[in-house]
Amino acid sequence: MDEPIIRKSGAAAGVQPNLTDYEKACAEFSWEAARAELDGLPDGGLNIAYEALDRHVANGRGGKLALRWLGKKGEVRDFTYAELNAAANRFANVLAKTGIEKGDRVYTLAGRVPELYIAALGALKRGAVFSPLFSVFGPEPIRTRINRGEGRALVTTERLYKKKIAPWRSEIPSLDHVFLIDGREADKHEEVIDLQGEMDAASEQFEIAQTGPEDMALLHFTSGTTGRPKGAIHVHEAVVAHHITGKYALDLHKDDVYWCTADPGWVTGTSYGIISPLTNGVTMIVDEADFDAERWYSILRDQNVTVWYTAPTAIRMLMRAGADMIEPGRFDKVRFMASVGEPLNPEAVVWSNEKLGRPFHDNWWQTETGGIMIANFASEDIKPGSMGRPLPGVEAGLVQRGDDGSVREVAEPMKEGELALKSGWPSMFRGYLHEEERYRKNFAGEWYLTGDLAMRDKDGYFWFVGRADDVIKSAGHLIGPFEVESALVEHPAVSEAAVIGVPDPVAGETVKAFVALNPDYEESDALLKDILGHARKRLGPAVAPKEIVFRKSLPRTRSGKIMRRLLKARELGLPEGDISTLESDET
Ligand code: ATP
Ligand code: MG
Repeated sequence: MDEPIIRKSGAAAGVQPNLTDYEKACAEFSWEAARAELDGLPDGGLNIAYEALDRHVANGRGGKLALRWLGKKGEVRDFTYAELNAAANRFANVLAKTGIEKGDRVYTLAGRVPELYIAALGALKRGAVFSPLFSVFGPEPIRTRINRGEGRALVTTERLYKKKIAPWRSEIPSLDHVFLIDGREADKHEEVIDLQGEMDAASEQFEIAQTGPEDMALLHFTSGTTGRPKGAIHVHEAVVAHHITGKYALDLHKDDVYWCTADPGWVTGTSYGIISPLTNGVTMIVDEADFDAERWYSILRDQNVTVWYTAPTAIRMLMRAGADMIEPGRFDKVRFMASVGEPLNPEAVVWSNEKLGRPFHDNWWQTETGGIMIANFASEDIKPGSMGRPLPGVEAGLVQRGDDGSVREVAEPMKEGELALKSGWPSMFRGYLHEEERYRKNFAGEWYLTGDLAMRDKDGYFWFVGRADDVIKSAGHLIGPFEVESALVEHPAVSEAAVIGVPDPVAGETVKAFVALNPDYEESDALLKDILGHARKRLGPAVAPKEIVFRKSLPRTRSGKIMRRLLKARELGLPEGDISTLESDET
């Protein structure tokens, strides 16, 4: 399973990777030294936005392009570090004027528009807590999240406000101020504020709040893949991890043009879509539009993107769109490509290496960890299908939980255990908002337990097995969904696959698979048999699915994760649970 290897992947175009010798970097690493790469506030405090913006302006880099925004209709808006800093200062002043204090929660509900980025950074400068909502959420998940965080201010658009907030405003009692990004022309209601008008009137100077490393900075809701979303609390100190992991795991250099395709509604879109690229001083691309293969390839080429961070769903869609679109020259500038969010099938790594000329570097982390924990590095061998190795400064292990709450470390190579991390890195979440008990359950001794199962090979590479909740126990075998799904997508007809365990009187559970087909294939019994045959050959009869059914698409969260628990609940006729983050679900 742990072959083939793609050797020394990333050193391209004469750029020396930031991390050249993994073992040495791990041995020499300290979080104090990482922190010393940042400036800190003059009085010894720490503020994420200061490190992202003010620091560059103070050090003579204000003229550098920080953000290039590509609008849906072809518009372009550019912001230098100085301009983004000035805009964030204006918004911080607007917040101060409206009475937003340190620790108050400021939410955003908007597509990927510059104002969202300005609001995030301005809120942090004010010392407020930034909490992004995904603009496609319905009214109910929006309300729940604002109420849970007692949001005092919200930045949104007129359309979203009218459709998703206004009718329920009285049910969000904490929400004192709503700023409309495009509210200038709006009929003036008392309950909304015209953001642009306020920004225009505000000063470009702002004295940044005196935040300390442990002050709350970000409130991020998890994807809701395994159950009701949790509100993970992050503090300003997290910026140390955002910065250094961007440097090591994404190989960010200050001359890079970097594109993170994630929406800030999810943690990736904030940690690596706002903070890390800015602290590392790169130029970041923000695309307002949703996925479109042709558009994406054009952005990569026309914007001279050098570092690209995306997700397996998007990669699978590119694969599905076919390699014909990849004309010569389109990938010349891209130096480093990384993926996160779901297991990346080895098939996708091999495909990208062949067709795009570079392999995707898978990396692993969670909302709770705040930053990348395990990665395939630019200078190191890639084993397709493996998440890679722990970042310097991160101690990862595999454990088995005992019935009495104790844990035992799994030392043997390629043996499953729950992926666990030793607490102590700066972007570690400090709690689940209002859910102390749920938070505490994640810890045993010095370990933080991630809820994911994995294996580690003799070289220290980690291999994702599946979510602990999704693992299937069949006739004494522990079957990880990822292995089965990866084998299924190897079949040329299969575009995506999800497997679940269904109760069986003899085996305990058997494997059932749901597959979506590539566009050139038609559903038929013969094809079903062929896919089954392929799976049996690849996996053996004990692990291969007993049953496969076709679906047009798989149910997934807005952040692109397959919701196996929903497939399972339906299969068993159980309640569907919290589906507030469900995106698409055609059968
Ligand atoms: P919830 O916690 O609400 O059920 P979630 O765990 O999907 O949702 P996120 O924090 O957005 O919420 O996602 C983190 C999870 O995504 C990880 O725990 C892991 O299961 C999965 N994941 C992320 N990156 C990878 C990867 N490279 N390989 C495999 N799985 C990954
Ligand atoms: Mg989770």
